[in-house]
Amino acid sequence: MFKWLFPNKEKKKVENVTLDQESKDLLVEWVHFYEKLNEENRLKFDKRLLSFLEEVTLTGVGCEVELLDKLLIASSAIIPVFNFPNWVYTDLNEVLLRPKPFNKNYDNNSPQNITGMVGNGYLNGKMVLSKTSLRLGFQAEKDKKNVGIHEFIHLIDGADGAIDGIPKVLMEKQYALPWMDMVYQKIKEITEGENEINPYGATNEQEFLAVTSEYFLEHPLQLKKKHPELYEMLHYFFNEK
Ligand SMILES: [Zn+2]
Repeated sequence: MFKWLFPNKEKKKVENVTLDQESKDLLVEWVHFYEKLNEENRLKFDKRLLSFLEEVTLTGVGCEVELLDKLLIASSAIIPVFNFPNWVYTDLNEVLLRPKPFNKNYDNNSPQNITGMVGNGYLNGKMVLSKTSLRLGFQAEKDKKNVGIHEFIHLIDGADGAIDGIPKVLMEKQYALPWMDMVYQKIKEITEGENEINPYGATNEQEFLAVTSEYFLEHPLQLKKKHPELYEMLHYFFNEK
């Protein structure tokens, strides 16, 4: 549906390249989403992963970008848009990997609590991720947090020009209002302590989208049970129309 918006310009290049066995084994070990895929879909995932790594530069700042980090960054990018075969992150050129959580000024005097961010201004086209947090996101599945996926959701949200919690490229216009109604209702529940969604989701509309998408992509069945309407909407967003 969004082919015109996101032409997969690199597709040809990796058509006949396959992912090496070591990478496949790491994906099975670390990425639950991948582990659950059948053989055919794993091959699709592998190709998407190679395409992504072809298009986006990964740079270590004060640490090495190891094979596992490459695979986890690319997986974070692909998981949310796996059902959109032609999706390309047109606004992303580079991912900077820092050894651990950081603060806005990258100094040691203020609290180091940022685990990832997507840029504007001098960070335009860039994403910053903490290496320890990236790995933790794939290890600690139960907490429904995954900073890699979280940051890519912000980019998907912003693909229409505004990171505002309304992912227009994933929805038809008439769903925008019902979606916002649900967002405000759920944010109210979070702030009143009435549900178990990560409280960071109550920060604003865009964080709500990112936080609940992490939940949906890591624990769909739990979300379906606890928040059926939210599940329905996210299911609609993340499946090819
Ligand atoms: Zn965020």
